[in-house]
Amino acid sequence: MKCTLIVTRQCNLRCKYCYVGKEAESMPLEQAQRSIDLTFQRTPESETIDFAFFGGEPLMEFPEIRAITEYIESHPDYHPKKVQLTIVTNGTIFNSEISGFVREHRIAFGISCDGPPEVHDRFRVYPGGKGSSRRVSQTILKAVGEFSQVMVNAVYRPETIDALPETVDYFSDLGVRQIYLSPDYSAPWTASDSGRLDMAYGEVGEKYMKYYRQRDPHFISLIDSKIAVILRGGYQQGERCSMGKSELAFAPDGSIYPCERLVGKGDNEHRIGNIKQGIEVKLMSRYQADKTVNTISVCQRCRLNNLCMNWCGCSNFFSSGYYNSVSPFLCASERASIRTALNVYETLEKEMSGAFLHHLNGSPLINSVQCRQQT
Ligand code: SF4
Ligand code: SF4
Repeated sequence: MKCTLIVTRQCNLRCKYCYVGKEAESMPLEQAQRSIDLTFQRTPESETIDFAFFGGEPLMEFPEIRAITEYIESHPDYHPKKVQLTIVTNGTIFNSEISGFVREHRIAFGISCDGPPEVHDRFRVYPGGKGSSRRVSQTILKAVGEFSQVMVNAVYRPETIDALPETVDYFSDLGVRQIYLSPDYSAPWTASDSGRLDMAYGEVGEKYMKYYRQRDPHFISLIDSKIAVILRGGYQQGERCSMGKSELAFAPDGSIYPCERLVGKGDNEHRIGNIKQGIEVKLMSRYQADKTVNTISVCQRCRLNNLCMNWCGCSNFFSSGYYNSVSPFLCASERASIRTALNVYETLEKEMSGAFLHHLNGSPLINSVQCRQQT
């Protein structure tokens, strides 16, 4: 179960691609508590829960995050092995109090940074237009030195796709070993931009192999997640996003959404209920992953169907306008990432005589040669 708490809509940045409506609106503690109760209630005993603090900039409400954490950790259904806490921050607010709190509660710390200053500062700016790179890189350096888990997420767009390999090296130099690369699906990707994906992802694959050979493996989402899926023989039912089922996002005004990326304001079209009345089954069923996949007819004929993230309703919505329709960009991006992951897997598996597979803790369920023919 994934539960995202939008603790505030306020933010001290004005990123040019931001989809969050900035309002002076924060989540009252009582409402956060009800959201947590509902999440525990809906989670089967055998499943884990990831509570994520999200915004706006969540650390603008640090005292509230503290109070919510206390509530979660004193909840009758809480167990440290069952619950993971995560903060996703823009990296501009950080001090020793926050750092001590993150360490004490073993919170996973995610920082949004798009890459080196010339890339990051194109979009991630303060209200006056000044880039936030300097401050964010200082936070990354401190966080890497102090926490066991630091994830950095870079958003890329047509303007910055070519800088992806350089971005990976930049994070590596800052000491980051968990690198997430996320396309901005709502950007105006053209066919020629999509054509540059193979080159950019391929170079990221080369970086991945370079670090692995140096015995300093980096987790790079684009590569590791896809190799893991290939080895498992495709996305399994429980892995596909279950918007509204095992993924919920709670907005400051009490609205419930099926995914944090779809959180809007008030009576937004993606809302599936509110904290007082609960989730409306009729609204929720719109998002269910199996329905999404079944309606994409072109994908049903595609041999990569099992390895492809065509089921992600919010990525589809942002890139095509429909939950159940893939855009040309998403299709090209999935093909390029599958090709890259296969190349990395085959190369390292051969070079390392089986040790690479061991590193991944997987077992090859799919014939990678056949898989390559299909890409
Ligand atoms: S830091 Fe996040 S919430 Fe704030 S402006 Fe940037 S993208 Fe939006
Ligand atoms: S690669 Fe394209 S056509 Fe094939 S399953 Fe994915 S989105 Fe559909």
